Amino acid sequence: MRRVAGYRCTICGREFPFEPERMTCPHCGEKGILDILYDYDEIARDLTRESLAACRDNSMWRYRALMPVADSVDVSRFLRIGWTPLYESLSLGRELGVKALYIKDDGLNPTASLKDRASGVAVAKAIELGYDTIACSSTGNAASSCAGSAARMGLKAVIFVPERAPEGKVAQLMIFGARVVSVHGDYKATFDLSKAAIEKYGWYNRNAGINPVMTEGKKTVALEIAEQLGWSVTDWVACSVGDGCTIGGVYNGFYDLYRLGLIERIPKILGVQSTGCCPFVDAARENRPLRPTAENTLADSIAVGVPRNPVKALRAVRKSGGAWIAVSDERILDAMRVLGRTEGVFGEPAGVTATAGVIQAVADGLIRPDETVTAISTGSGLKDVKNALRAAGKPRLCEPDLAALEESGILA
Ligand SMILES: *Cc1c(COP(=O)(O)O)cnc(C)c1O
Ligand SMILES: [Zn+2]
Repeated sequence: MRRVAGYRCTICGREFPFEPERMTCPHCGEKGILDILYDYDEIARDLTRESLAACRDNSMWRYRALMPVADSVDVSRFLRIGWTPLYESLSLGRELGVKALYIKDDGLNPTASLKDRASGVAVAKAIELGYDTIACSSTGNAASSCAGSAARMGLKAVIFVPERAPEGKVAQLMIFGARVVSVHGDYKATFDLSKAAIEKYGWYNRNAGINPVMTEGKKTVALEIAEQLGWSVTDWVACSVGDGCTIGGVYNGFYDLYRLGLIERIPKILGVQSTGCCPFVDAARENRPLRPTAENTLADSIAVGVPRNPVKALRAVRKSGGAWIAVSDERILDAMRVLGRTEGVFGEPAGVTATAGVIQAVADGLIRPDETVTAISTGSGLKDVKNALRAAGKPRLCEPDLAALEESGILA
């Protein structure tokens, strides 16, 4: 934490010293989401390609020098978060006709989504600051990851979920022993209730949109991608977008590495949404601020009509020279099937949305055949079995008899 230099407001640009409890800019209020600033000269002294190559911590905490958590917190006791595999595609990339395609499977985190990265940092922060309860509102994965990390570290978790959250995610919450408030309403109503309750009861606030330390957990996915690629990053990195914290974190991670001299350029970031809920894509296309949007997509983790972190997300795409793209739910279900069949990676709808975006971007000529791409798979398909069966169909029944098997045509 010696290496955290302070905050900068993403709205007014004012800088001020780091205070662990600060959530937003004192001048801009709610909307004044903060960036955490680092002392890169100090960090570069002991964070090098060589030090990382020798590091045996196979978790996101290998990048602790770039995370805003005090040295006093013993993160070796946490769930093992991060250092998920980066697979080079053996067939899909070739089929698509790109130079190389990599899949970062973040569904392999302990509670099966990329959100574990943010929740690990949130729980570390709550412990550092002496809280006994952590709270969050979520469409599912932020909640289940928060509940899992809290359970492991002996914190109480209070979780607000919209009633449409898939059963698999709610089951995780119940198993991790969280206090679950299933809100009769959409994500915005859920968020607002959690905000009021957090203010009233004084719990630690894990709501990703406004808490600046969350993005710093999520950025570790970018740090890992770069290290796993031997510090030679792909031309594009594709990411599905709901609130915008993940994509904001992806940019922050590459930005850190660029500032440290560990990578030579920041990849172009492809922000992918569903056409059923794409406030970022619409705003970018019409070059105007975001407007509240209906939440008509089966990709529940990115069904966010009023994103909480628009500034960091828009910046990620703009500063990286990337692009925004929307894909239909049908294409998302296709991508679920394609990723499963060609790579053996099982993602939830929002998890495979980045891959659906890559397929679309190649077809549109946005991603060229001589370019390399990484698609982040942000969550496991086991979280949403209903949509998986919708994508892939159900197996046919067969009588327990070889002749019947032959006749059934199942093996044809
Ligand atoms: C949360 C989530 C996203 C999007 O992250 P945001 O920070 O909300 O933009 C994408 N995929 C999955 C599986 C998620 O849980
Ligand atoms: Zn401000």
